[in-house]
Amino acid sequence: MILTPLAFNCPKCGSADVFYSCTPSCCFNHVCGQCYATFEPRTARVGEYKGETGPRPEADSAGPTAPCARCGEHSLFGAIDETVPAGQLLCVSCGALLTLELDSE
Ligand SMILES: [Zn+2]
Ligand SMILES: [Zn+2]
Repeated sequence: MILTPLAFNCPKCGSADVFYSCTPSCCFNHVCGQCYATFEPRTARVGEYKGETGPRPEADSAGPTAPCARCGEHSLFGAIDETVPAGQLLCVSCGALLTLELDSE
């Protein structure tokens, strides 16, 4: 398992220039630096990862983040692993495999 920093694109314009503007204790509102759309990521649990996880990449505090659908922690990473379908995320707190959806207003 190779962990990659969480990343997602603006659901309105597709830009990767996305900032997390709040704190996890408040909300998960993100802002697009291109079109200023705001949106919140949601996750859905799709499985469980039982293998070894690699080292966590350096987290960028202004980078995209999302809450785990099961444990509520926000230690989610992109997962590159032959047993994990592309695009799924791993919660390193509880081992849940998740898919991400973006809710825009
Ligand atoms: Zn945008
Ligand atoms: Zn979790």
